[in-house]
Amino acid sequence: MRCGKCEDDAIIELRQHNIAFCRDHYDEFFRVRVEKAIKNFNLFKNDAKILIAISGGKDSLALWDVLFRLGYETKGVIIDLGIPQYSEQSVELSKKFAEEKSLDLHIIKLEDEFAGNNILKIAREVHRTNCSVCGLVKRYLLNKYAYESGYGVICTGHNLDDEAALLFGNVLGWKLEYMKKQFPKLEKNIDKLVDKAKPLIYLTDREVAVYNLINKIEYIDYECPLSKGANSRKYKHALSTLEEIMSGSKQRFLFDFYRNKSKIFFEEKDEYIDERSCKICGYPTTQDVCNYCRIKEKVLSDNE
Ligand code: SF4
Ligand SMILES: [Zn+2]
Ligand SMILES: [Zn+2]
Repeated sequence: MRCGKCEDDAIIELRQHNIAFCRDHYDEFFRVRVEKAIKNFNLFKNDAKILIAISGGKDSLALWDVLFRLGYETKGVIIDLGIPQYSEQSVELSKKFAEEKSLDLHIIKLEDEFAGNNILKIAREVHRTNCSVCGLVKRYLLNKYAYESGYGVICTGHNLDDEAALLFGNVLGWKLEYMKKQFPKLEKNIDKLVDKAKPLIYLTDREVAVYNLINKIEYIDYECPLSKGANSRKYKHALSTLEEIMSGSKQRFLFDFYRNKSKIFFEEKDEYIDERSCKICGYPTTQDVCNYCRIKEKVLSDNE
């Protein structure tokens, strides 16, 4: 098979776009898709200071690589969750990536924040699932670091497959409040909350993996061991099955939702109106004390 743009052999066929590319033209296609997402969704300005949430996985490292190559001012931040083997390898690979490209990576160790407790112990202590505590703690710490370091936006590596699976799960459960908040850019407009953006929104899991392969980006190639049985995997699987028999359906499902969101919900604004500040940390919350501080208080008091 030939590249659709030159005479070279193609390395990848993109059925949903009805085209195949050689290595160099695929590399260009990938960068153009990211630039298109930044422009179409007005993700951030050219001179924005961008903080990238790094996990050591394929998406976040590809995102860092492509934004760096596009000339943006970036810094990576990774949260070391203390998950045996997995966290060590994630941090090591992220450090290696940053060192090779002379990029700046900040590491936040969860055990430093929680008196030596890792994510498993924290979740056990507060009787919640690992992933719910992990999500909450990561969101809080990333935002806090971004805000205190003067970053205007936090970019995450969520790609088309991740977002389509998330939407699929939300539709299955008719989680309207979550659907309302789903968009490639989340403008917070609240003091101390930093905007979030998803520049890989036009790219699939497979497309990101191929970008890493051709650019020799080494990443942690297995999922977090605590993700076993996660529904998101099942939703991805269901959508891939549909995509096999109806090419382009996944993309239509997600982007038609974005296009029609304002009609479905009448307005797109995030309805976060309760502007209280946490009595302990001062960050925005809807309660007297934010969930992060509640978890921290419980874990630290049980450790005394
Ligand atoms: S799978 Fe769960 S515990 Fe593991 S990194 Fe993701 S949210 Fe955290
Ligand atoms: Zn070509
Ligand atoms: Zn707080």
